[in-house]
Amino acid sequence: MPTLADVVRELESIYDPAWAESWDAVGLVCGDPAAEVRKILFAVDPVAAVADEAIEWGADLIVTHHPLYLRGVTSVAATTFKGRLIHKLIKNDVGLFTAHTNADVADPGVSDALARAVGLTGPLTPLQPSADDPRRGLGRVGALPAPVSLAEFARRAADGLPATAGGLRVAGDLDRRVQRIAVSGGAGDSLLGTARAAGVDVFLTADLRHHPATEFMETSGGPALIDAAHWATEWPWLTDAARRLTSISAAKGITVETRVSETVTDAWNTTAKCEDLK
Ligand SMILES: [Zn+2]
Repeated sequence: MPTLADVVRELESIYDPAWAESWDAVGLVCGDPAAEVRKILFAVDPVAAVADEAIEWGADLIVTHHPLYLRGVTSVAATTFKGRLIHKLIKNDVGLFTAHTNADVADPGVSDALARAVGLTGPLTPLQPSADDPRRGLGRVGALPAPVSLAEFARRAADGLPATAGGLRVAGDLDRRVQRIAVSGGAGDSLLGTARAAGVDVFLTADLRHHPATEFMETSGGPALIDAAHWATEWPWLTDAARRLTSISAAKGITVETRVSETVTDAWNTTAKCEDLK
């Protein structure tokens, strides 16, 4: 039976912690390195529903994309949701490991899985290559097999991503023909200028805000925008990460059982029109 230390070593060989942004907090959050690990649940968010799912399944470890703690803490008392989560995990012998910005820039990383999920085929290149290794980086640029209307691409993207209450929001001429696409899993505001400079037809990301999106669309000649649910843009990576961990572990004679959480942990759980609320 592999130990948590064995599994962490394999995970860090795929998602090197040195690749993480300086403000990020990645790696092992809780768990005894000597503990035995067989069942590993992959999820986007370290939240109560995911912890409950892990415990019910009998998981020994949860691998999440988002960190539980990003800044220094002086207490893990069960007086906050984070403290309660830590208590629940430790009481049930469940470890927690995070691969965040180091998984974003990995090759393949979060945006490769997103690109494939929305129908991009052929080679993918980083939208913003990493300074130390241009084969890695943030976001991906790729192409659809043939040009389609923006409306048709949005339909395919919606079909390829897991369903969320918010669905997709689209900015641009729906009849416009599109083929070269940039994608970036998670909040992609900071890459708007890079996407424009890349000369793509569409930039698909999450958490776009009114002012940056309006300015972007009012400046002619730029790509159309598609704004998806944050959770949905990162969820496709979980399957890829689980598959890669299973395969590199198997090559060393280590057997692990993985599962991808299908619990929708996007912050928004419904949408309503004003008349629905009357
Ligand atoms: Zn994210």
